Amino acid sequence: MLKSINPFDQTVVAEFPLMETSLVQQKIDKAGMAYKSWKRTTFADRAALMQKAAALLKANKEEYARTITLEMGKVLTEARAEVEKSAGACEFFANNAEKFLADQVIATDARRSLVSHHATGAILAVMPWNFPFWQVIRFAAPALMAGNVGLLKHASNVPQCSLLLEKVFHEAGFPEGVFQSLLIENKTLEDIIKSDVVQGVALTGSEFAGTQVGAIAGKHIKKTVLELGGSDPFIVFADADLEKTAKIATQSRMQNAGQSCISAKRFIVVEQVKDEFVSRFEANIKALKQGNPFDAHITTGPLARVDLAETLEKQMNASVKQGARLVTGGQRTQGNFQPALIDHVKPGIPAFDEETFGPLAAVITARNEEEAVALANASRYGLGASIWTQDIEKGERWAREVESGSVFINALMKSDQRLPFGGTKKSGYGRELSEAGIKEFVNVKTISIA
Ligand code: NAP
Repeated sequence: MLKSINPFDQTVVAEFPLMETSLVQQKIDKAGMAYKSWKRTTFADRAALMQKAAALLKANKEEYARTITLEMGKVLTEARAEVEKSAGACEFFANNAEKFLADQVIATDARRSLVSHHATGAILAVMPWNFPFWQVIRFAAPALMAGNVGLLKHASNVPQCSLLLEKVFHEAGFPEGVFQSLLIENKTLEDIIKSDVVQGVALTGSEFAGTQVGAIAGKHIKKTVLELGGSDPFIVFADADLEKTAKIATQSRMQNAGQSCISAKRFIVVEQVKDEFVSRFEANIKALKQGNPFDAHITTGPLARVDLAETLEKQMNASVKQGARLVTGGQRTQGNFQPALIDHVKPGIPAFDEETFGPLAAVITARNEEEAVALANASRYGLGASIWTQDIEKGERWAREVESGSVFINALMKSDQRLPFGGTKKSGYGRELSEAGIKEFVNVKTISIA
């Protein structure tokens, strides 16, 4: 049984039985049948349906946002923004897929050589709960526009979101079988991955889930894109605009109750400005209001599950035991965690070495810029990063030294459908969004005519 539980007060909102093996097999077969005709549709036909999906997301924004908030606890304004962003990604790939996947003619000694791009089959998406609409649309919009079909195995705490997403594509008019949600357990994933119908797996989730699903896919020679955890550095140089820096630091760490892979997690500040930064950051964090995410004055909802809040509390307490100083926050009641700030964090302390997935900011002091960037790179992860300095040339120089999939200078690190998104090191591999993203699950075919 999959349970939809309100994370604010732990009430069970709805329950859904797991799908029987025979039903899952029917859905895989349906995906295989749908693929045969879907891959032959024109970009214009696909785009028309994708635009309808975008329109439905906009029209039903309030209903979808309320379901997101009820199932995983983000504040309602953030849930509305997530649905809008999802609609934007549908429109973007509707408008750009044909251009991204156009033939590329390449001069060789043959009469004509070219690269063409072809759909490959069904792509299985294993998705997390933290942006339950956006993560799925970020996968589905390019995959379907490329002529692939999608099977979604969503996180088990967001079954209502999973079913609503299937409904969006169904109501938009996508043919039966082009996008289906599976209510299943992780242990049955191999049965799906090994099917010949499935030709790729996109997983967004933790490093551990990446190792498990990546290993199964490797065994069956299925391509994977792994979007995993992060411990993004937020690097503050002495010449940064500290007011703006502390404001965006708060937004970056605390939005979505800190449950974002690209939240800044390690605030690495050069010593000249460390005290001033901490005092501004502390004031901003103290001004946050934790509580019921449906209340308009609340800035920080509960964590999505009680065990996630317990893990965060353990990481915070262990960090303090090992020398960090608790500046503010950190009280917990069930999944409700008071936004917290800790200082004097160093390598070897959990808040530095591990991903902290909740509203806990960790400040690390660096002697100079060089040490700040070295500390940024002293992480197993490499997803996003930001650098704060008024000297943008210097910022760009250092950005090239940071080991991560993205670096933003003087701006909030965020995903943008026009730009590639993904990680290095244990943050995974492959890219989503942009032209790079749509090309992950296509056959890049060489045709050469002598
Ligand atoms: P998670 O526990 O790894 O779950 C992600 C998905 O993987 C869920 O559908 C989950 O299903 C499934 N899963 C978990 N363990 C599995 C296993 N052993 N075998 C097969 N499937 C498994 O992650 P989460 O708690 O939902 O999300 C938070 C994590 O995702 C964080 O680490 C965050 O940084 C990362 N994330 C990364 C990105 C990115 O773009 N790089 C974006 C968002 C989130 P169940 O729910 O049924 O267990």
